[in-house]
Amino acid sequence: MNELFTNEKHYLTLNNYLKSIYNEKVFKVSLNGGFSCPNRDGKISTNGCIFCSASGSGDFAGNINLSIKDQFYEVASILKKKWPNGAYIAYFQANTNTYGTVSELKMRYEQIVKDGKKLDDKIKILSIATRPDCLDKDVLNLLKELNDQIPLWVELGFQTSNEETAKFINRGYSNDILVKAVKDLKSLGITVIVHIINGLPTDSYDDMINTVKFLRKLPIDGIKIHMLHVINNSPLGKLYKENPFPLLTMEEYVKIVVEQLRLLPHNIVIHRITGDADKTELLAPMWTLKKFVVMNEIDKLMRKENYYQGDLYVQDC
Ligand code: SF4
Repeated sequence: MNELFTNEKHYLTLNNYLKSIYNEKVFKVSLNGGFSCPNRDGKISTNGCIFCSASGSGDFAGNINLSIKDQFYEVASILKKKWPNGAYIAYFQANTNTYGTVSELKMRYEQIVKDGKKLDDKIKILSIATRPDCLDKDVLNLLKELNDQIPLWVELGFQTSNEETAKFINRGYSNDILVKAVKDLKSLGITVIVHIINGLPTDSYDDMINTVKFLRKLPIDGIKIHMLHVINNSPLGKLYKENPFPLLTMEEYVKIVVEQLRLLPHNIVIHRITGDADKTELLAPMWTLKKFVVMNEIDKLMRKENYYQGDLYVQDC
């Protein structure tokens, strides 16, 4: 049992984890570094992942027309009005944020931290979302340099361990690439968070469970669990409009997430148990817009059954 579990939350929430370290609320400030994605620009494919919106999964990232500094202060000033004492995570969210030459990457990240000096003292963490196949040796060296100056998180989009589904969603890399990326990053002391999606059309209940069983064998630090959003402006949205396929109900999703939490070690930080969709673009399932209801249902089920994160974890690795 983790000492950061509470009566309310029977799993290790990001919020409680951050509070235990920084002793204050830490907010994510989403930034848009203006990167592209090899799964969109033709290096791997031109179609992108089947579920991905035109914004490169960065619907809530910063305004690309502003400098990174201005993006940061625009969001931080809004947060500051409500929570004057908060701290921040500078989060590069949209597209593939390690896709570029080292000098291009440096140019972006040095706007957050340079020679050990941060853009703002209240920035506690730099978080970079990327693909595991965009982490070559030079990029890893740069990430290590950054991690020496500020705690660095690298967030990897994985979605599923079912290789057939990975092909269906046009992920563009095989599972062993993720395994290597996690090991490379961890060997440099970098915090690793992996994103998964429940409800992909070709994934069964067992596939979703197996994805978590696959990941718990790796030295990951955190996980983001999302429900599939079928977005209007995406290849999956097109398929759905032509031929609507069944999607998980909220009750099914809740049960799957609870089972996944129980299977994960108690020290893995749960960054998310549901995602935010752009409601103007969401085709289905509409219940995902009730984010707090979904979170409450997960909490309620865990409390009712006295389930905890990790109570089904057996060290099989
Ligand atoms: S989900 Fe990420 S990797 Fe896939 S197409 Fe979108 S930006 Fe690229």
